Amino acid sequence: MARYTGPSCRLCRREGQKLYLKGERCYSDKCAIDRRGYAPGQHGQGRKKVSNYGLQLREKQKAKRFYGLLETQFRAYFEKADKMRGITGENLLRLLELRLDNAVYRMGMATSRKEGRQLVTHGHFTVNGQKVDIPSYLVSVGDVIAVKEKSRSSEKFKEFAEAAVNVPNWVQTNYEKLEGKVISLPTREDVDIPIAEHLIVELYSR
Ligand code: SF4
Repeated sequence: MARYTGPSCRLCRREGQKLYLKGERCYSDKCAIDRRGYAPGQHGQGRKKVSNYGLQLREKQKAKRFYGLLETQFRAYFEKADKMRGITGENLLRLLELRLDNAVYRMGMATSRKEGRQLVTHGHFTVNGQKVDIPSYLVSVGDVIAVKEKSRSSEKFKEFAEAAVNVPNWVQTNYEKLEGKVISLPTREDVDIPIAEHLIVELYSR
């Protein structure tokens, strides 16, 4: 599946806020938003009047970039969310949260969604005992996501085992076993990223 391979920090600068795409660097004084908190490019520092459409577009771009998706993939999630019962914006965020690469990140077993995606693709995880290497795999309530037996001795996962991470309410982790369980569906309150999802719905409903 195609993915964005350009500079991650440029995306944050374009959105004017931290998207936490680079793990530990995002919390250090090397963060590009702290150093150059204006949009990239020749006119990045100019004043801009943003239209309603512009606001909606930026919100969609931000959400896409948070979850590391391209337009077609993101649009497919929206269409799926639109067909579900309930509030489309919340359904959309729920679907995005349930991606396996995000779940691994939210459980603290990766330092960013990007790293979560890489670790999943490299086959380091199982879901209910079966190897799953598809980052877009949607986890369900009751699923147990674990580091594969062969990968457990890796230094990377030892670090995670020692890390104390604040996990959202919809997951439960067992760092000794290097596994986590989905105990409920994520609610809007569990999604702690600053996104006004109604603007995305408005954009796609034009
Ligand atoms: Fe964004 Fe992280 Fe780069 Fe800062 S260091 S600009 S938060 S990706």
